[in-house]
Order: sequence, then C-alpha cells, then structure tokens
Amino acid sequence: MVDKNDRRGSTGSPGMIQKAASLDAQEITEAELKAINKHTLEPLAAEDVFTFKAVLCDNELDRTHEKFTLKALQDLQKLFVGKTVIKDHERCADNQVARIYSTELVADPKALTKAGEAYTQLVAHCYMVKTASNADLIAEIKAGIKKEGSVGCAVSHVYCSICGTDNAKNYCRHWPGKSYEKEGGTQVCTFSLDGGRDAYEFSLVAVPAQKAAGVSKSYTGETVYEPEDAAGSPETPEEGNTQTDSEKAATLALRARLAASRVKLNTQNHK
Ligand SMILES: [Zn+2]
Repeated sequence: MVDKNDRRGSTGSPGMIQKAASLDAQEITEAELKAINKHTLEPLAAEDVFTFKAVLCDNELDRTHEKFTLKALQDLQKLFVGKTVIKDHERCADNQVARIYSTELVADPKALTKAGEAYTQLVAHCYMVKTASNADLIAEIKAGIKKEGSVGCAVSHVYCSICGTDNAKNYCRHWPGKSYEKEGGTQVCTFSLDGGRDAYEFSLVAVPAQKAAGVSKSYTGETVYEPEDAAGSPETPEEGNTQTDSEKAATLALRARLAASRVKLNTQNHK
C-alpha cells in the first residue's frame, strides 16, 4: 500500500490548500467490489472490506471565501483516485488506513451555488481491509463518530474576484472576505481555485482543519498575512517573538562559535 507520493510530508508541500471533508459509511455492491479489486494484488471478498464515502470538496464558497471551479473539481477527481487515506496527517506505513478506489462528481441541478453553477461535490469512495488493528476505526465510522477529514491539494490558479490576478503566481493587494469599493458598489473579495495541480492527502482527523485566525495567503508556498489585522491578531506578536527568539538563538550560536574559535586561536597563539 506504499506509493512514492507518500514520502512527501503533509506539511511543507508548496502551495498546499487544506479543506475540511466529511465522511459516511456506505454499503458495498458488486460493482464497487470490482472497482476495489483493481487496486489490490489479490481479489478481496465483500466480507473482507469496509467501505466509506467522503465529500472531499465542492464548488460553493467556503468560510474562507474560496471556492473550487468545476474544472478544478474535474482535475482533482482524477488526481485523487488510488491515493491512500491516512490518519492524523501522519505519513507512515502504519497510518495508511484506507485507499480511494473511485471518485465521482455529484451535481445537484436544483441547488445553485452563489455563482450560479449547479452545486457539485467531489465524492471519494474508500475501502479498508478489515483487520483487528482497524476494527475500532471501522466501528467509529459506522457509528458516525469519526466523520471528519482533511483534504490537502494544490491548484494551478487562484483568481481574485476584485482584480482578476492569479494569486498562484503573484499576490495581489486584496484579501478574501474583505470588502472593496468597485464600480457599482462594494464587493466582497472571493478567490476562485481553478485547475487541480496535485492531490496530496486525505487524512482522517480528530479535529478538522481550521484556518488560523486572520486572513492569509499561501498559494505560492510563501505565506503572507493581511497587514491591517496583523496588529490586533493574537498570533502576530507570537510570531514576531518566535522570529526574534530564533534570531536571538542564531546570534547566540554565532557568538558561541566565534568565542570558541577565539579561544582556539588564543590557545594556539599561547603555545
Ligand atoms: Zn486582487
């Protein structure tokens, strides 16, 4: 069940976007068993496997004022097939609890998004081989106790609704969720995530992904925070301190090294 993608850390993948996902147990059918057995070395029987489905993402604006385009969902639909499902973002072999054996886009033509598109969800179907070690996890999913996940992916373009800049290439001065004056009145800035670039992980988590307080952008791999909020935001002074501390530590280490080399020099000179 190990594939080369799993060597990547769950953090530190440049431009990785994290979103909350929800999951549910599902009944296994013959067709699904067939799809599962495309991913296994030896065919599995229905009684050997437990399956569940998860909504990985959709095309509605989320609470961080970002939305995936249908194109992004279509790309991600292909990219997520065959990916392993891990627990608590830990990418070791022991933590690969399930695998995505198929994905589908489920559109609801009666429900329109704020942008006027048919509301569409990217649904992943996952299977687990029933073993003693994952019996608890299966029971938790069946009982609806374990029902949250976190999805990590990257997209090719992140378009600003105010100026049209692709923030996956260059950050513009606008921040998702903030209001700006435009011709015809005030507009709330939203970011449109377009074109799936990579599917990093689907992780079952105890606590779903929460975006840090304050508005930030990290689409290019570099994280920037909104300056206005920075003054009042609790994590900024901390971050400032951390930087100062690490700078201090670096200075101290440098001084220590210089002192050590001086001592060495002195010792040599005194010989
Ligand atoms: Zn902009």
